[in-house]
Amino acid sequence: MATVIDLDEKLLIGGEWTEAEDGARFDVNDPGTGGRVGSVPNGTEADVKAAIDAAAAALPCWRSTTALERARILRRSADIMRERADEIARTMTSEQGKPLAEAKGEVEYAASFFEWFGGEAERIYGEVVPPMNGANRVLVLRQPVGVVAAITPWNFPAAMMTRKLGPAMAAGCTSVVKPASATPLTAALVLRCIEDAGAPAGVVNLITSRDAGMVANTIFTDARVRKISFTGSTEIGKDLIRASAEQVKRLSLELGGHAPYIIFDDADLEPAVDGLIASKYRNAGQTCVCANRAFVQRGIYDAFLALLKEKVEAMPVGHGLAEGTMIGPLINEAAVEKAHEHVEDAVAKGATLVTGGERLTGEGYDGGSFYKPTILDGVTREMDIFYEETFGPVAGLTVFDTEDEAIDYANDSIYGLASYFHTRDYARLMRVAERLEYGIVGANAGIISAANAPFGGMKQSGYGREGGSVGIDEYLDVKYVLMGGVGVV
Ligand code: NAP
Repeated sequence: MATVIDLDEKLLIGGEWTEAEDGARFDVNDPGTGGRVGSVPNGTEADVKAAIDAAAAALPCWRSTTALERARILRRSADIMRERADEIARTMTSEQGKPLAEAKGEVEYAASFFEWFGGEAERIYGEVVPPMNGANRVLVLRQPVGVVAAITPWNFPAAMMTRKLGPAMAAGCTSVVKPASATPLTAALVLRCIEDAGAPAGVVNLITSRDAGMVANTIFTDARVRKISFTGSTEIGKDLIRASAEQVKRLSLELGGHAPYIIFDDADLEPAVDGLIASKYRNAGQTCVCANRAFVQRGIYDAFLALLKEKVEAMPVGHGLAEGTMIGPLINEAAVEKAHEHVEDAVAKGATLVTGGERLTGEGYDGGSFYKPTILDGVTREMDIFYEETFGPVAGLTVFDTEDEAIDYANDSIYGLASYFHTRDYARLMRVAERLEYGIVGANAGIISAANAPFGGMKQSGYGREGGSVGIDEYLDVKYVLMGGVGVV
């Protein structure tokens, strides 16, 4: 399939769409064909500084707008995103690879953060606390932290950005955004929605650059940037924790995941299979909440595996813009190699390849990074896939006998983002949900993300929460004011 998008975007600095200071640009390619889909400026250190200048200049005015005004702009941003859903989704599919239906779903999901945080803007309440001394009065204020930097990944090019910009704008913060260099075009289209919704110049600024290290260094060494919100790999997240020490920057980190998916004997078979498929194969297995390990109780194992195989083999793989595609390409060749290495390692250590296990080439796949949806049977703790995030369409199954054994398997990970299980036993549902060491638990549900819920991880999956009623706290400072000598003593 020929690539159909041809989009050249720019940086957004202080309300102006501009080229990089030195005029350099880089191409964005379609992972489904290898073809060019557009280009963006390769932002320099001077550009990052200019974006921080713009965000700092816009801050005094933006932080003093009324909550109602900020809410209106956020809701309008959501409406405009929805009006442009087709254009944004096609661009997203072209640069990221996910099937068009999934891309449209992501645009709606991304817009929902603007809507949700529009509501939250109006509920940034403080407190009046009963004083310890009758002469005093005690107030608690919640104020915007200031200039925020947002660094986002390529797997959800729109939603990972709005999940940060929504609460930042609602709180009264201004932002500099650095999207992944694989998917900067979607980011530019989302920022155009915010601009067209009436956000004043400098409230959101966009830096595209291939030099993420330089961007991060410039952000971390500028005292005006008070907070960095990062979504990406645990490895880079750890670098950012170290970098934050110098100026004691506030951080929110949404990092890697390695979700367990447990199916108990008493689960409804088909919803459990469909849940695992939705969790595992959505976005070709490239989500932080993807099931990476499936633990299936012995009594249901054979039936589960047979139905899973039938459904996985029926999933059409192809370009994301092709009609009917359910599995698109992986983001690049390195991603294909990593998935294949996990499969080869598992098979070499005794796992059985049930289906898949190979890259796809030939008609419809040439130039792209396609990997056949794969199932491995008999995964053990000796295999890399048991402990490492695959980020590809590979499901590894392990049989278990008891609830304790399943919990032990599931919690045996350095990650703690999402987890899932299926059961019809209500007592077990509550018990297992409480015992899983994960920030998110899907009970009889394979899709768990929503703007109204606090999303975030434990252990090496990061800290901070995005979405829900607590999401805005990440962008607010709490200040306590003691007013002396004002009361009747
Ligand atoms: P990544 O390599 O860590 O990149 C994420 C972002 O960080 C990109 O914008 C990247 O820029 C930038 N970056 C790269 N090197 C950097 C550096 N030295 N300093 C600062 N920023 C740097 O991760 P990814 O491969 O894009 O995304 C996949 C990972 O994200 C997976 O581990 C996944 O689990 C995780 N993820 C987590 C969540 C969550 O909510 N917990 C959600 C989605 C994804 P360039 O693109 O220019 O390199």
